[in-house]
Amino acid sequence: MRRPIVVANWKMYTRASDAYILATTIKNSIANIEGIEVIICPPSLWLSEISDLLKKDGKVNVGAQNMFYEPDGPYTGEISPMMIRDVAKYVIVGHSERRFYFHESDLDVNEKVLAAVKFGLSPIVCVGEKTKSASIRDAVDQLEEALQHVPKNSYKDIIVAYEPVWAIGTEHTASLEHSVKAITMLREIIGRDSSILYGGSVNDKEIEKFAGSLAIDGVLVGSASLRAGVFIEICKKWAEAKSFKGDVTI
Ligand code: PEP
Repeated sequence: MRRPIVVANWKMYTRASDAYILATTIKNSIANIEGIEVIICPPSLWLSEISDLLKKDGKVNVGAQNMFYEPDGPYTGEISPMMIRDVAKYVIVGHSERRFYFHESDLDVNEKVLAAVKFGLSPIVCVGEKTKSASIRDAVDQLEEALQHVPKNSYKDIIVAYEPVWAIGTEHTASLEHSVKAITMLREIIGRDSSILYGGSVNDKEIEKFAGSLAIDGVLVGSASLRAGVFIEICKKWAEAKSFKGDVTI
């Protein structure tokens, strides 16, 4: 279902105690924020503990940062959709860091989306062109590949994150105009029922730029989500900007 969402991707950061403190601070600080869904994606080692901590009041959801597509088997070091679904509802798939460092192909991403949907998880599917001069069409192609053979009635459970790779980890977000153009093209593929997020160096300073756009349902926040104060400010501003009631038709 299409709704306002803020996702925290902690990447391969946090020790056990940092993760506990960060999640507790976020949970307590967003207790009074209405109208947005917050999803924290910690390293998989902490998933279970963070899930226990957060599910007590049900305001913050958890997601995995990655998974393998088989339900179980001899795949040393991997985690499966069946394991994730015991503790989390979401899973990030196709993140550009997975594509780059671990050579994940569009086919792998497609297998992961299919497995997530099959086993009742909501995948957060990341797509984005690699360089500033590359065509947005690359992101659209990635989404088309990711959705191969996925039943259309599952699209409402899928979240798409438009993450231009050239903006990730750079402290420079893409322009609003560029992001809206890309998201509008992705919307044509995924349809009207799914949330589409922007990701790439999102911080608390420039957040209003994206929050004001009806085309953008949420944000996927990487580095800035590791600073509790900054992440909470992003959540507050997103909730404030999206607090209108009624149908979103754009
Ligand atoms: C990300 O991890 O998907 C991301 C967008 O990171 P950052 O916000 O640090 O650019």
